[in-house]
Amino acid sequence: MKTVGYAARSETTPLRPYDFERRELLPNDVAMEVLYCGVCHSDLHQARDDWGWSHYPLVPGHEIIGRVTAVGNEVKHYAVGDHVAVGCLVDSCQSCDQCRKGLEQLCRKMPVQTYSDTERFSCDPSTPTQGGYSKHLVVREEFVLRVPEGLDLSKAAPLLCAGITTYSPLRTWNVGPGSRVAVVGLGGLGHMAVKLATAMGADVTVLSRTRDKEVDALALGADRLLVSSDTEAMAEAASSFDLIIDTVPVKHDLNPYIPLLDVDATLVIVGQIGPLTEPSTVPLLLGRRRIAGSPIGGMAETQEMLNFCAKVGVLPDVEMIRIQDINAAFERLEKADVRYRFVIDMASLPLPDAA
Ligand SMILES: [Zn+2]
Ligand SMILES: [Zn+2]
Repeated sequence: MKTVGYAARSETTPLRPYDFERRELLPNDVAMEVLYCGVCHSDLHQARDDWGWSHYPLVPGHEIIGRVTAVGNEVKHYAVGDHVAVGCLVDSCQSCDQCRKGLEQLCRKMPVQTYSDTERFSCDPSTPTQGGYSKHLVVREEFVLRVPEGLDLSKAAPLLCAGITTYSPLRTWNVGPGSRVAVVGLGGLGHMAVKLATAMGADVTVLSRTRDKEVDALALGADRLLVSSDTEAMAEAASSFDLIIDTVPVKHDLNPYIPLLDVDATLVIVGQIGPLTEPSTVPLLLGRRRIAGSPIGGMAETQEMLNFCAKVGVLPDVEMIRIQDINAAFERLEKADVRYRFVIDMASLPLPDAA
């Protein structure tokens, strides 16, 4: 199937239109027209090969909302016209212990990423995967999610990465009414962490270097903002959190945050993929505190998150852009100049030549 997207040709070139093919439908494939695609910080990292594993040409995008245009003859749960979603994964082995538990993100044979990866399981293993900055997408049924009735299609896209990345640790560490949760970093992930934790009934604190974001933090639902450069306030907050969600996507220092954890409490890293400033183990050992990491979520949990958001009315704050503005959006994203997620209206991308 002919389609068109926006691709980076190398780590130094801006994204430009790119004609390519999606695979012909396999029996359990769902084909969709992409309606909206969120702009994740990973898209920028991958387009520039910051992690060293990018494949070019590279069509980014793993926060995808679409409408089904065709289904294979074995597809059970979706029909033409359904509103669907695709996140960071498009395949996994489906047979290891983690896949069988619904934890496809932890597949022993590594799940297939939505873009900048190659197919390994359900189709020709040499096919590169390409993401949602494109007009069409073909994904096996097991990796397609249903957009629940009542969820605003134009705003829901960031739930597929920023949403599930923060929802999953909140569920893993049993956050509920009365839980004391702190959020570090108030970007795409951080603002979702605040909204979701608040919706679960937690007492939510935003940790920030300055007071600049206090009005925003409170508007998102946080109970307070704690200024991390205020040593007196930080000392007073020692041992006062059950869970700290650290969403900062670059190398940074955990040392100011570790003493804020209560006994057996956890600081979970969901942003930075790579080195951190070396943490001291002293407050870890003395307080029996934990540092953990967490990647996105499984398919069942991602569907649960979409349903939860529809039920309680949680949606990301988005700024809609046209695909033609993606390079300017990347520059602004790099400066954290967006509240809080860009979403591309894919209607701005003309259909490929029918010829
Ligand atoms: Zn992402
Ligand atoms: Zn597996």
